[in-house]
Amino acid sequence: MRRIIALLVLAAAVLAAAWYLAGLPGSVTLQMGTTEIKAGVPVTVFAGVVLFVLLHTLLRALVGLWRLPRRWRGWRGARNRRLGERAATRTMVALAAGEAGEAQREAARARRLLGDNAQTLLLAAQAARLAGRAEEADAALRALTHRPETALLGFRGLLRGAGERGDWAEAARLAQAAEAAHPGAAWLRRERGRLAARAGRWDEALALADADAPRAALGVGAAEAASDPGRARRLAKRAWKDDPALAPAALAYATRLRAAGRERQAQAVIRRTWALAPHPDLAEFALGSLREPLARMQAAQQLAASRPNHPETHLLLARTALAAGLVGEARRHTEAARQAGLTQRRLWLLRAAIEEAADATGEAGRAAQREALRRAAEADPDPTWRCGACHATSERWAPACPACGAAGGLQWSETPPPRLLAATG
Ligand SMILES: [Zn+2]
Repeated sequence: MRRIIALLVLAAAVLAAAWYLAGLPGSVTLQMGTTEIKAGVPVTVFAGVVLFVLLHTLLRALVGLWRLPRRWRGWRGARNRRLGERAATRTMVALAAGEAGEAQREAARARRLLGDNAQTLLLAAQAARLAGRAEEADAALRALTHRPETALLGFRGLLRGAGERGDWAEAARLAQAAEAAHPGAAWLRRERGRLAARAGRWDEALALADADAPRAALGVGAAEAASDPGRARRLAKRAWKDDPALAPAALAYATRLRAAGRERQAQAVIRRTWALAPHPDLAEFALGSLREPLARMQAAQQLAASRPNHPETHLLLARTALAAGLVGEARRHTEAARQAGLTQRRLWLLRAAIEEAADATGEAGRAAQREALRRAAEADPDPTWRCGACHATSERWAPACPACGAAGGLQWSETPPPRLLAATG
């Protein structure tokens, strides 16, 4: 309603103005050279208004034309961004779905539309890696390393690639370059520690170890590599303190104590670890210097006192009793080991040896021996060092798994993991 009133008022004003102009007396004369134009006032005012409108429209059209390239660029930029972001999202979905071809196509599209930035380069690298094109992936990651803000991201990807190829020299070079580009990154510290452990540089690995690192295993490695006996003993002691239940750490320390003539202290270290986690190598060390069967049996009893009911303890006492000719005692301890839950091959082989020693010629003795051997064939496998990361087994302990290089990976395993049990059973 208000707009209608306003329109009516405006129309009335225009009409009044036109009326007023039409009624104005006089004329306007324009003289150019010999030409003379003469017009009444109303016509002149009307012509002036028309000229103004024409000029204004022309000027606006010219300005619009002048700004056209910039507006075109702005429009194209917005469109590319929209399409590029859509392509980047599609790349991520394709990566998650494991569709290598689609991921590569969309990553290339995103890179073309959005240019080389952290996101597009990283997506291109991941898509290339998924497609098995390591060189393309590395090229994209190297481009990331050239920008200070994304250098660490690039080095991280390149390091992973070098690790997968097993190119440890290149990995070490990359870690050094990454440290220079981004000093003190927590991830990089762990990575350098891992590389040092893999290369057997135990001192460096130990220096870089964080709270989660297997310090005891690294310490044993460093002690074994140390040429100075005093330093080796200090490193071994530190390793044993870090993990008193780790038999190789106890053995590393006790061996160096024994070499320094501190036998009582060495035996105390072995007893302490036996109390936490009995291991056959500990018994071998404790009894190592003794030859006399009865003396060996007494030493075994001393060790056994720190963990009297463990199956490993009963097995040790059974062995030393058999060596000392105490067949009944040996048989009693194998029975106790069995009751404590030990069902491994070594128990039944020992039992067979005991039965042979008890009655090698009698029919009953031979039958008992045959029965023990039959049970040995069906028994659980003997314990071994097994890697917690790759499940590979190893005859001997080492600071890092010989198969996959995981530092502190080897653990004394009484039973194989369920996966292997299912495969063999
Ligand atoms: Zn392993």
